[in-house]
Amino acid sequence: MRSLWLHTLVHIIGLLAVATGLGLWLGQPLLGFASGAAVALTWQISQLRRLEHWLLQKDKEPLPPASGAWGAIYRQFGRMYRRGRKRKRKLSQILKQFQKAIAALPDAAVILNDEGQTLWFNQAAARLLGLTGSQDIGLPITQLLRHPRFVAFITERSDVDNPAAVVHFPSPVDANTTLELRLVPYGKKQQLLLAADISELRRLEQMRRDFVANASHELRTPLTVIVGYLESLQDSNPPEYWQQPLQTIRQQSGRMTRIIEDLLLLSRLESDSDPPATKPVNIGRMLGEIVEDARALSAEQQHQIELQLETGSGLHGIAEELHSAFANLIFNAVRHTPAGSRVTIRWYTDQVGIHVAVADDGPGIPAQHLPRLTERFYRVERSRQRVTQDGQRGTGLGLAIVKHVMQRHGGQLRIESEIGEGSCFYCDFPAAREYRPVVPASSPLVVAGAANEESEPADGETAAKLTG
Ligand code: ADP
Repeated sequence: MRSLWLHTLVHIIGLLAVATGLGLWLGQPLLGFASGAAVALTWQISQLRRLEHWLLQKDKEPLPPASGAWGAIYRQFGRMYRRGRKRKRKLSQILKQFQKAIAALPDAAVILNDEGQTLWFNQAAARLLGLTGSQDIGLPITQLLRHPRFVAFITERSDVDNPAAVVHFPSPVDANTTLELRLVPYGKKQQLLLAADISELRRLEQMRRDFVANASHELRTPLTVIVGYLESLQDSNPPEYWQQPLQTIRQQSGRMTRIIEDLLLLSRLESDSDPPATKPVNIGRMLGEIVEDARALSAEQQHQIELQLETGSGLHGIAEELHSAFANLIFNAVRHTPAGSRVTIRWYTDQVGIHVAVADDGPGIPAQHLPRLTERFYRVERSRQRVTQDGQRGTGLGLAIVKHVMQRHGGQLRIESEIGEGSCFYCDFPAAREYRPVVPASSPLVVAGAANEESEPADGETAAKLTG
């Protein structure tokens, strides 16, 4: 194949030589040369035409046989064409099998183009999302799935490239079916929409929540009776050798009561998917109150508790839930650090949002425990054996409660800790939650007192500092 041009050149030179020789014999060498050149050119052009014609054919017939270099070229094209067809057949077979596999998936799969229009969907998409036949192809997905949560997920997504982002909403076909939907970007701005039926999982979760809530509820009444009798027993001047056991029973039943209260709170936070209406909450005042309680908790442990109110803003939120979250973090900082440790609570705003930060200079938490701290009853091994500062262990549910409260307020709990340096727990709220009260500049700033969602937060211009 490599010497085809040489082969052709030799042929043309031969033809020209013969034609020129013939012309010379007839006394017209130039005419002979010109006729030879014309024949050679016509031959090459006619072969080129034939090849072009064949290349442009849709259903290609086999190439006509030819000799010499053109024959070799035709054969090579023929081979390439056959190989191409074979590869195409194989690819379309793989594609068909792939489509069959996706079509048989129990999860709905919809391919969307860069404008969010449907290009293709599988049978499960028809069953779960109610997409029908070819009439839905080419339509924007937000026109086909109109649930407000889904539309908001598609239109307001800031983390477009995050395939872990999911949205839950009822199936348009059956309101009892809960779908978990995610968008996976691929190729050139195309997206694969995947929706799974998680109704069974939801039902099991609900069963677990109901069980915990019912069990806690059922335990509360007998425990109240036991605590009542214990109090009577202690008040009735029992013999000396009963004093210590009664005191221990009292402490432990107190702990059981706290665990049950926390379990009930947690299951309420989890099951109540529509949080109650938010109200402006005076966070400065609330933190001031918790700090006072924390000092009482620390008592002779003499923790150095400092409250820094760097903004006078409040928060649109649910006061009892926020109180519970902040109290858990601040009491933890007292309980899980040695006597005399410094605890700093900050309330501040930045470009990202509005935050509460509870920092301590305690022993810190090893990095491997940080991702699991918000699990129920998860405790860092070292502190598991430790009896906390108030003589009782915590319930092990505090950080789980904080995490849920933060989620219900559109925020998140962030934990930073370094061994030997201390820990910092951040409650990050979105800026939209900030409440800027309008009060006369002369109003006195109140930083301690009862937390009350109806009370106005302190002046936004002023910052206060309470040092313990
Ligand atoms: P607990 O009732 O045990 O405090 P939490 O859910 O509030 O339960 O906290 C989980 C675990 O996180 C605690 O048991 C403790 O090991 C660790 N922890 C929480 N806060 C701190 C802190 N400020 N310093 C060190 N460890 C902490």
